Formats: sequence, structure tokens, C-alpha cells
Amino acid sequence: MSAENSQPGADALRPEAIEQLVTDALAAIAAADSTAALKDARLAHAGDRSPLALANRTIGSLAPADRKQAGQLLGAARGRVQQALAARAEQVEAEELTRTLAQEAVDVTLPVDLHPTGAIHPITGLIDLISDVFVGMGWEVAEGPELEAEWLNFDALNIGPDHPARGESDTLFVEPLSNHLVMRTHTSPVQARAMLTREPPIYIVCPGKVYRADEFDATHLPVFHQVEGLAIDKGISLAHLRGTLDHFAQAMFGAGLRTRMRPHYFPFTEPSAEVDLECFVCRGESVGNPDQPCRTCKSEGWIEWGGCGVVNPRVLRACGIDPDVYSGFAFGMGIDRTLMFRNNAADLRDLVEGDARFSRMLKGVAR
Ligand SMILES: [Zn+2]
Repeated sequence: MSAENSQPGADALRPEAIEQLVTDALAAIAAADSTAALKDARLAHAGDRSPLALANRTIGSLAPADRKQAGQLLGAARGRVQQALAARAEQVEAEELTRTLAQEAVDVTLPVDLHPTGAIHPITGLIDLISDVFVGMGWEVAEGPELEAEWLNFDALNIGPDHPARGESDTLFVEPLSNHLVMRTHTSPVQARAMLTREPPIYIVCPGKVYRADEFDATHLPVFHQVEGLAIDKGISLAHLRGTLDHFAQAMFGAGLRTRMRPHYFPFTEPSAEVDLECFVCRGESVGNPDQPCRTCKSEGWIEWGGCGVVNPRVLRACGIDPDVYSGFAFGMGIDRTLMFRNNAADLRDLVEGDARFSRMLKGVAR
């Protein structure tokens, strides 16, 4: 502490006295070897009650002419102490970290606290699974752009300019409209691209995202996923289609599961059919059996799955394939819908929420 005398201010503010206070402070700071010790040194030498702080308060007792020089001296002195404190704080922190690391030897045999990892999205997993089913039969997986030429999305598939699907209510046209580009409304243009660029025989499966100007609710998404298949070869018939769909259905939903076809109309196939799955939950047991209702098929015994048919000769011709030599079949299903059946999920919106817990919950389903 500064000495008490009749003129405390003048005495404590002599340059030698200030220098001594700084020397004391720097020594104490250098000696502090822990965060706690440094805190004590800070309090003693830079705190409100420290000798330098007290000396600062006595400046007012000096003659006005001496105040400026004393103020500069004290300011510089306190600045040096602050700098020393900051520098020592960094050193002490580094030393303590080094000590801690040395003390805390790592036991590599201890169980690891795994950070939560993401999960394969169930749609991605199901696309992989579907692709595997067809690759296993010697088919190829084909992909195409999601921003597609209007001609490939519609005209090449026998969907004329007056077809309702061409209207803006369903299709997302991309500006400028004069470019005739659309967000593909189905994966069928991938089939058209394959027919235009490959020589038969063609056996491809095309999974991917498709876009419609649709509602976003429990059963509709404006962006969803389809898988389509196309086989073009000599002598392809409806029987080959039937066998392929049965194999696909059983790979998805279980051995022995039956399918059925109901006549329908699609522009790019003729004849066309909708394909239904035998209900894989009740296998038809719920039909006419009110005691055992089935939520999955609403006790109808069958579930709508997708569309299919024999490729329309007009489509073959538009894509440069001779319909007198080759024939083919095509089919398409919603992947999101297929996933919902497989695990009884009620709300399609869960698929796009990005919650990894949902993906992990369905992990066993999609693989
Ligand atoms: Zn059922």
C-alpha cells in the first residue's frame, strides 16, 4: 500500500513510486501459475482497491500544472499491467490445458459416446432396393433430367397438345414459356430418352423425382417419386409384363403375393391396365368379414399400386423404334405410396420433414 504522509498524492505519484508499483504488479502476474492465482493478482494490482487505482485517485491533490504528467504516467503504468495480465492469461490457459491433457490419459477400451448420425432417407433406401430387384434380373437403372423438354415429357409419349395433363393445373412450366421446358410430371421421359438413344433390346428401370402443381397434404406432395420400367425386345407380350410385376410385387411385399390388372387407359400404352396388389396385411381375409376389418385395404382385399401396359406402337415410332419388329411393356408406380403401404405410415408429409428419427424408424422397412 502507498505510504501515509501529509501529502499522500505527491508522494505516491512520484515516477519512481509508480515504477515500483508496476514492478510489483508484473512480478505478481509472472508468478501466478493458475487461473485462480492470476485472478488474485488481477484484483491486487489492477482492481479498484489496487495501489495504482488508489494513486490515480490522488491526482486531484496535485498542483494543476503537475496533473497532466502524473495522469500520463499512471495511464501508461496501468496499461502495462493490463497487457501483462492478458498475456499471462493466455499462457496460463495453455499451460492448464497441457496439464489437463497430460493428466487425463485416454482409455481407448472405454465405450465410445457416439454422436448421433443421420440416416438414409427411406425413399432413397427404397429406390436402392427397387433398383436391386431389377438389376438382379439384368435390367439397367436409367436416369434423366428433372427439368425436361415439353416434347419428351408429353408429345413423345402420345400425350397430345389437348390432353388434360398438358394444362397448367397439373404441370409446372418453367419460364420463359417459349423454351418449352417443364419440371417433369412423370419419369416417362426417361423411357423416351432411352428409346431415342439406345438400340433394342432395352430393359431399364427409372426411379426419380417428379413434379406436379399439387396440394401439400397427408396424401399429396408437389414433389414425389416414381419408378417406371420399360422393356423393349422382340416378342414381348402382356404375359412378360404380368410376370415382371408379380416378381416386383413379391420382392416388395412378400412371397406369394398376387397382383391383378384392371383395364384402363394411358396414352403411351395400348392395351393399358391398372395394377392392384393383393392386400399384404389381410390377404383378402377382411373382405365380407366385418369382424376382421383391415385398415390397409379398407377391407377391399386389393390395393391400387400403379399403371402399366403394352407400349403403344405410336410411341415406339415417335422414338425411332420399328413397331413391326419390336414390342414392349411399361409400368409405373409411386415410390412414396409404395413406402406408405409397406410400413403403414399415414402422412406423406413425414417424408419431407427431414426428421432423422423418422428415417431411422423406417430403416428396417426400406432395406
Ligand atoms: Zn387388407
